[in-house]
Amino acid sequence: VNSQKQIKKYLAKKGLRPSHVRVQVFRYLLEHRTHPTAEEIFSSLAEEMPTLSRTSVYNTLRAFTEAGLVKIITVEGDKVRFDADLSDHGHFRCSRCGKIYDFGFSFDGLRWEGLEDFEVESKELYLRGLCPECKLKKSRREKEES
Ligand SMILES: [Zn+2]
Ligand SMILES: [Zn+2]
Repeated sequence: VNSQKQIKKYLAKKGLRPSHVRVQVFRYLLEHRTHPTAEEIFSSLAEEMPTLSRTSVYNTLRAFTEAGLVKIITVEGDKVRFDADLSDHGHFRCSRCGKIYDFGFSFDGLRWEGLEDFEVESKELYLRGLCPECKLKKSRREKEES
């Protein structure tokens, strides 16, 4: 799903009327794999669509979430972010620059001890640390200081 036409088809298949706003928001999510917040999506799209309202972006994201088109990711102490990549993958958040990186990961074969009688509704893997760039900056600074 990439062209406007394909996105329209995809939305319709998921039971959503492919309005202009919905198509544009979904295209944005496909093109920006940065796990944007609703506010980021709104301010970028508002540049091309001056009549766009914040409410319609929020409503669109809610409709996408309910229809299972996007995943919500909530990383500690952060805003709600949206991810159009529905495959199993983990998120790494750099504690210095705040960027969020995807990494390959599969939940298959993972054992959940003590949850045998539970029904799992959502699975998320979230790691925190330093990205390679920030790690480099940190080690350079440490060298300078010593
Ligand atoms: Zn970083
Ligand atoms: Zn992701």
